[in-house]
Amino acid sequence: MTPILEVYDLWKSYGEIQALRGLTLRVERGEIFGLIGPNGAGKTTTLKIIVGLLSMDRGKIIVDGVDITKQPYEYKRLIGYVPESISLPEYLTLEEFLIYSGRIRNVPNELIRERMNYYLKVFELENKRRSLILSLSRGMRQKAAIAAALIHDPELLILDEPLVGIDPVGQHRIKEIFSERVKEGKTVFISTHMLDTAERMCSRVAVIHWGRIVASGDLSTLRGIAREGADATLEEVFLKLTEESEEFNPWKADNEAGS
Ligand code: ATP
Repeated sequence: MTPILEVYDLWKSYGEIQALRGLTLRVERGEIFGLIGPNGAGKTTTLKIIVGLLSMDRGKIIVDGVDITKQPYEYKRLIGYVPESISLPEYLTLEEFLIYSGRIRNVPNELIRERMNYYLKVFELENKRRSLILSLSRGMRQKAAIAAALIHDPELLILDEPLVGIDPVGQHRIKEIFSERVKEGKTVFISTHMLDTAERMCSRVAVIHWGRIVASGDLSTLRGIAREGADATLEEVFLKLTEESEEFNPWKADNEAGS
């Protein structure tokens, strides 16, 4: 079976800043895949390019077997995306927002209702259904954004730091939703700093540093790459791998060259 997502040799710069340097990764169907890395490693840039919010300088991205540069619109129906900094239309009620999100993805009305009711219940937002987004708390907005990203039942759900700002019950519900999706053969791709969560939740992770993947696989594979023992945590493995990949730090190279 083809992977749901393949990224090959992805490069992206913002002016002088080279954010991605030949990033390659592969996400299989039916897994929760985590992208972990230090601040500024290139996680958000990678996600934004995959969902079509940013253009790439070079590289290839294949979603469900289709090169996204060849079909720049069609592939988006396969994806649900929740950014790190969400910005929702504040003048709509929660219900209007979810209906709107379903309609722009051509979801039939009865399915929109069904899914909306389900997620409002799961996220304990039923009493906010007719409230303006403006009046929702940060965590409630985050839950609303996740519900909106799921309203068209996407094959690939992509979330940037999905659990930040969400209360423990909400976090638990989100993890349950992820597990349910995986059981249905759908895929969840998250970027996160929460390594204990990533360790418990993700079947595989990729460690990104200085714009490239330094290691990817399940925890035991990563332990092997980091030459750590069988009881090493993801945090220990992460620290070792990122320390070792300091050699890719372009600023360090510049400084050494200049000194
Ligand atoms: P964090 O964990 O802090 O969210 P990240 O891994 O998501 O970081 P990115 O946001 O992808 O990292 O940033 C990668 C690099 O690109 C950083 O050096 C960042 O300063 C730079 N960068 C990101 N967005 C822009 C932009 N719009 N303009 C200029 N530089 C940018």
